[in-house]
Amino acid sequence: MVKIAAYGVRPLERPYFDRLNKYNYDLIYIEDLLTHDNADLAKDADAVLVRGNCLVDRDNLERFASWGIKYVFTRTVGYNHIDLVAAADLDIAVARVPGYSPYAVAELAFTLGMTLFRHVNLAINDTRRGDFRVTDGMFSHEIHRSTVGIVGAGRIGFTEAKLYQGLGADVLAYDPYPSPAAKEALELVDLPTLLATSDIVSIHVPYFPGKNEDLIDADFVHRMKDGAVLVNTARGELANVPAILAGIDSGHLSGYGADVIVDEATILGKHFDDVADVPSAPVRDLLAANPRVLITPHIGSYTEPALEDMISISYDNFNEILTT
Ligand code: NAD
Repeated sequence: MVKIAAYGVRPLERPYFDRLNKYNYDLIYIEDLLTHDNADLAKDADAVLVRGNCLVDRDNLERFASWGIKYVFTRTVGYNHIDLVAAADLDIAVARVPGYSPYAVAELAFTLGMTLFRHVNLAINDTRRGDFRVTDGMFSHEIHRSTVGIVGAGRIGFTEAKLYQGLGADVLAYDPYPSPAAKEALELVDLPTLLATSDIVSIHVPYFPGKNEDLIDADFVHRMKDGAVLVNTARGELANVPAILAGIDSGHLSGYGADVIVDEATILGKHFDDVADVPSAPVRDLLAANPRVLITPHIGSYTEPALEDMISISYDNFNEILTT
């Protein structure tokens, strides 16, 4: 029986894995994310299954190779947590799940965008304190007469575009490699045009380490329309948070919604107070304290359909790769 060390399996997810255990793989369930400290739990395994924020760096890959492990499966779309160069050097094959329910992340991005667009964040902030007065800051537009800009019109971006189109918004998209579906259904424009015109800008671009850090920099923020909302459910590294906060503080942007932050591998699953020494801590605290900022702890894909897709496609990957 093929043994697979599965990292980052939350107790809630176990029944989904168990239900799909029809292929007779022997799964070693490990609740924690993969780190240097727990890599040796995979010592007897034939393959490793990870999710985002697992540390699949050269060190861990070298360990895996020394134990004869030849396959790493990630049950995620993004693969920036895996050192692909090291994997290739060590002859370790990597497989991912490119297409689980795109609605999971698209709906969350849409929810963050609409919440900020209608200033629900500001209203809730007041009513929680017992203040039921209506302030000027709560005056809003309507999405059906507004423009939404999607940066990265792949699976998730395209799905979010359709959600906004369903409400009657004008949707623009910027994507240097648009799919035929995006070309047909969306108005493709260049990035400066999208930023200058959109009331909500939503980011769905993959993060390529060393290549597109700080895609959202001061110039990006400066080019955005006055009063616009920015949403990032892609990756924290794409966003220069001080530049975004400066845009909010000056009144130029009306809000930032993010499902992702930098240093996630250290921070996620913990309370802020327990991780005060990570480099991004001051910025993270500023984000969390700002009523015009909404942060969720990477829950974009934390839905039942996405989880089912992630697990069943991982099993398809096992079958295709491990049994041939
Ligand atoms: P995808 O590969 O289907 O689409 C990405 C699109 O971005 C492609 O069409 C590509 O051409 C485009 N692109 C690449 N570089 C670009 C650039 N500089 N400017 C504009 N567009 C660019 O990927 P997807 O399934 O839509 O996922 C997008 C990203 O969302 C993933 O890479 C991942 O980082 C993130 N994600 C987040 C969560 C979450 O839980 N928050 C879950 C899944 C994926």
